Parts: sequence; C-alpha cells; structure tokens
Amino acid sequence: MSASFNVSKIRKDFPNLHIKIRGKPLVYLDNAATTLKPKPVIEALQHHYKAGTSNIHRGVHYLSQKATQEFENTRAKIQKFINAQHIHEIIFTKGTTESINVVMNSYGRTFLKPGDEVLISEMEHHSNIVPWQILCEEKGCILRIVPFNDRGEFIWDEFKKLLSPKTKFISIVYISNSLGSINPVKQIIEEAHKLNIPVLVDAAQTVSHRPIDVQKLDCDFLVFSGHKLFGPTGVGVLYGKSELLNKMPPYQGGGDMIASVTFEKTTYNVLPHKFEAGTPNIADVIALGAAIDYVNAVGLNHIADYENELLEYGTKALKKIPGLKLIGTAKKKTAILSFIIPHIHAHDIGTLVDMEGVAIRTGHHCTQPVMKHFGVPATSRASLAFYNTEEEIDRLIKALNRTKKVFHE
Ligand code: PMP
Repeated sequence: MSASFNVSKIRKDFPNLHIKIRGKPLVYLDNAATTLKPKPVIEALQHHYKAGTSNIHRGVHYLSQKATQEFENTRAKIQKFINAQHIHEIIFTKGTTESINVVMNSYGRTFLKPGDEVLISEMEHHSNIVPWQILCEEKGCILRIVPFNDRGEFIWDEFKKLLSPKTKFISIVYISNSLGSINPVKQIIEEAHKLNIPVLVDAAQTVSHRPIDVQKLDCDFLVFSGHKLFGPTGVGVLYGKSELLNKMPPYQGGGDMIASVTFEKTTYNVLPHKFEAGTPNIADVIALGAAIDYVNAVGLNHIADYENELLEYGTKALKKIPGLKLIGTAKKKTAILSFIIPHIHAHDIGTLVDMEGVAIRTGHHCTQPVMKHFGVPATSRASLAFYNTEEEIDRLIKALNRTKKVFHE
C-alpha cells in the first residue's frame, strides 16, 4: 500500500467505522450512496447548533456575522477545491439533483426551443435523465442518448455521430455510480464547444475520488453533493460560468435573491444570491467546509492512488468467486465494484452479507437503463472510499462465499 497513506490513522477520524452491526464490526462499502463523516464535520455541525446558531447575511449581531463568515468561507473553499475563476460562480443547493434541476429549469426553459436536442449518456443517474425528459416533453425538444459498450465505456464514435448543430445542451456524468467508468469529459467538452454547446458535468461520484479543475475542464456547469464528499446531507453545489449564470433567470423567488421589491417591480440580487432564495442550509454548508479541509489534508491524489490499489485488489478477489460476473469493467474506472451472481437475486446477496456486518447496495442504483443494457434487474455494488481496507474486502468475499453456500451455488 502507498507509504504516504496511513489508513489506520484515517479510520480513527470516522466514528461510524467503529460501530457493530449484529455484533460484528461494520464493513461499510456503500460509499457511492453516501460517505461517512469525519469528526471535524460532526464537530462543525455540533458547534453551529450548540454555540453558533444564527441566520446569515442580514444580521448585524455577532453570531449572525460569524455564521455569515463561516458560510461564505465554505464558498471560498469550494472555489479553490474545483478551481473556479470567481467565488460567485459557486451556488449552494440541496445536492446534485437540485443543481441539475436548477440548470434545467433556468437555462433549459429559457434557452431551449422546439426541435433542439439535449444529449446525455446511457449511464446517467436518473437525476440526469428525468429533468431533461421533463424539459423535452414540455418544450418539444429531443433527448439523444450516447450508448456505452459492454465494458461500460462511453462510445466516442457514437457521440460524434449524435453531435449536430441541433444539439443545444449536453449533460454528462463524469464517473458512473453503477459502473465506476470514468468518462472522457474534457474531450467531450472540447468537441461540444466547437459547436458552442454548453456542457453540464455531473461530478457526484468524482469529487471524493479525483481532483477537479473546472477551468481546465472548461465545463459550463458542474454539480455535486456534499454528502458524497464526507460532508452532511442536504447541501450541494452548482458551479456555473458567470456569463451563463448572469444570463439565466432565478430558479426560485424569495428572500435574499432580490435587490429590491415593490409591488410594481422586483429586481434581482447579484450572483450567487440570485440563485439562493430563502434561508439556506447554514449548518450543513459550514460543515461541508470542514469536509473539504479534511479531504485536502489527506490529498485527493493520495486518495486516488490508494483507491486504485484497493480497486485492483477487490477486482482480483471478486473474480476468484466462481460464477460471479463483474458489471462495469472499463479500463478507466474508480473504486466501484458492481457484480451479479447467477441464480441469486441481488437483494438476497445484500441481505445475507449484511448478516455479516457488510453494507453493500443492491438494486438498480437509480440507473435503470444501465440494468437494461446488461439485461439484469439489479446488481450488487461495493463502492469503496479511502478509509476502506483490503481486510474489509476480504470480509466481503467471505460473506459472499457464505451466501453462495446458503443458496447451494
Ligand atoms: N448523479 C450521480 C452520478 C450519483 O451517484 C448521484 C447519487 N447517487 C446523483 C447524481 C444524485 O445525487 P443526490 O441524490 O445527492 O442529489
């Protein structure tokens, strides 16, 4: 294992790793669904509610000023974390899903016209399919789908064929949550920009595994959720280039997003506030700042190296189980291990390994078209984070072998 990476020290920072499930130490392999939280995140939340509670932006009293500063500090941390050019390009939302819906509602409803085409891929999460279907139905636009091959790799030639002057928006997942495939988003964006097509990148599964540089990618929008980045649930980010965000109408009306209100006319606030109506999720935004500090201290490059080693170890170990078939074998992938075992339903696998204290996810992972591609109703998915270990993968393998015995497979 990487010498620079002290996993046992890291594990001490995550209290949830040390609980027991049915008397057995938890093995948490459901990180693509949500990640565990390190102590500084939990402490930031506690601190806000114990000694820092206040609303932000409008108060002159000490607590309000302090909470405002901490809230805005997180915005600055995120700007740095994804290398956005301007701090006002960082907008807080509830999560990835809401961020995509902001763009669909505001950009999509304003700028797309009947006959325009929106391009997504076959491996999108439902949250990057359904909003565009709603838009297409309402506006008379056409949704085009870039297929993937049987390894789960984005098919570049099909993408090139689907691109045309009719394509007016591309929304694409960076890393698939059910396959682990890493898509060539930089090249996709380069190609799209030759035709002046804006591109949204769904980075929900990327932020915790790889460094992101929105200026290098040159994406127009990028979205992610705090809870997949070791932060709290209920907070997420929409990054958008300011030229686009400035042209877009507000998503919701209410407090904070206005410059002035009269019954005759309301004018809107500047970015980012134009897109942040109402009291935001103050405590969770502040705690997300603590999560980013934590991840930065460990280092995303170290995380990526360590997780690659775990992925290799886990892939080899799973392949040794007779009959088991990996779903998602892209050459470029992150630490997501989806698989099926013939004759045993994924939910039975999930339930039986849970008896051994091993938490994996089973089902369609909000990617039903991916399941359809492989002709399966569901997969079992072990998704790893940098606090996982080879020993934990061994526990999964043992639990799977036991499951096979129960089913006489
Ligand atoms: N996109 C991807 C790739 C995801 O993995 C997820 C969460 N599983 C989402 C979007 C939606 O994220 P959220 O539920 O946090 O809004």
